[in-house]
Amino acid sequence: MPQVRVRFAPSPTGPLHIGGVRTALYNFLFARKNNGKFILRIEDTDQTRYVEGAEDYIMESLRWCGIVVDEGIREGGECGPYRQSNRKEIYRKYADLLVDKGHAYYAFDTPGELETLRVEDEKNGNTFIYNAAVRSKLKNSLSLDAVEWNARLDRGEPYVIRFKMPEDEEVDFDDLIRGHIVVNTSTLDDKVLFKSDGMPTYHLAHLVDDYLMKISHVIRGEEWLPSLPLHVLLYRAFGWEAPLFAHLPLLLKPDGKGKLSKRDGDRMGFPVFPLFWPYGETAKGYREEGYYPEAFVNMIALLGWNPGTEQEIFSMNELIDAFSLERVGKSGSRFDPEKAKWFNHQYLQKRSNSQLAMEFREFLREKGFHIDIVRLEMLVELVKERVGFVRDFWAQTDFFFKAPEEYDQEVVRKRWQENTATILEELKGVIQGLEDFSPQSAEQEVKLWIDSRGYNMGAVMNPFRLVIVGALRGPHIFDIISWIGKAETIARIEKGLSLIGKK
Ligand code: GLU
Repeated sequence: MPQVRVRFAPSPTGPLHIGGVRTALYNFLFARKNNGKFILRIEDTDQTRYVEGAEDYIMESLRWCGIVVDEGIREGGECGPYRQSNRKEIYRKYADLLVDKGHAYYAFDTPGELETLRVEDEKNGNTFIYNAAVRSKLKNSLSLDAVEWNARLDRGEPYVIRFKMPEDEEVDFDDLIRGHIVVNTSTLDDKVLFKSDGMPTYHLAHLVDDYLMKISHVIRGEEWLPSLPLHVLLYRAFGWEAPLFAHLPLLLKPDGKGKLSKRDGDRMGFPVFPLFWPYGETAKGYREEGYYPEAFVNMIALLGWNPGTEQEIFSMNELIDAFSLERVGKSGSRFDPEKAKWFNHQYLQKRSNSQLAMEFREFLREKGFHIDIVRLEMLVELVKERVGFVRDFWAQTDFFFKAPEEYDQEVVRKRWQENTATILEELKGVIQGLEDFSPQSAEQEVKLWIDSRGYNMGAVMNPFRLVIVGALRGPHIFDIISWIGKAETIARIEKGLSLIGKK
């Protein structure tokens, strides 16, 4: 196999959708797997759609995901520049080459004239297509005589260069995912290759760049499949060998009906972008929602590709090892926001307590709590299993940091008996007398006392938990009191007694 060179070629028109991140990821995995190169090319030839900040956003998204670019606008490389607006001079030559070879022509029809034709056709129930059937009636270098169109060029009249789509020809080609495809050219139009503003269109620019950048495989979204016959014909027109193509399936809404869009995310409360998008209409990002990049990457890797085994958790290196285009499906993959959370939970469980303690410490600092890291490690261990995101540690442990302000009234009603206050007073004395305040020793002593007094376990432990936590939730009660300490335990019993009091 010749050297594998693949590219991710986003247009900087806004934040990068997770579908785009998946395309980048599959290209990257494919490159690494085959000892190839992964190229990032910025396709900004449509200046009307250019959005400030999008280019940096794309690069930061890839960096966050651990998708390493080998050649690109920052990395450089032998086939640069890697931003199309910096390659402007290159494209004209190739458009002219096609005109010289008779595969393209100048067209002078104004946007207004074309619009009139479109509207007229629509009125008659037809769709206007600029192709072999009508081009001889329009204003172009095929219909006008040479003196006339040359004069128009000399006068500097605006024009575009269009591809001369062959009439009624079968084009056939292969896609690594879709298989063999045959299309009749009569369904295709004479696409504009070069615009009147002096810029190439996507069709010409990406193809020339893929050729000059020696791209071996074009791996991109399914939305480009309808353009593939044109691209194949362009390669033939230039006399170049085409790269291999792989068109990735769509990412679908959670209900499977249609393409996943930002609106689905807004409606259902999940992000469809890797990072927060801060400009104009802002958008949520996985990073800021507390996802680990490894979990995010693992999740998107499995949207369209499957390893053929039951394995679900993959590190980047494992993905590289396992990835192949043969195992990318044809049908769209449904996005499941719950599964995304599941992945983060899995990755959080794999982190060490000290890592998690450090992450949680940052969160607590913002809340004004400064807690010793060793104590936080103990805490993390106690509740880790119930936590899917670092911020969830707070909901699971808030009562470690502050005494309850209120008590679950349902529990008060059901569990606070006539003798509860007396029992808790006694329990306070037992706790006061404890020398060793480790969870095990405290538990042992308290249980001995319960037995000796003949109390019912629940009659003691439920109100005890209520005054310490405020509700019947949280980890083992002796782990909690040992962590908050004897003085705080006693203070909370007292507070509970005075606020709930006798019944
Ligand atoms: N610039 C195109 C896009 O934004 C690239 C398509 C391709 O990979 O050829 O999707």
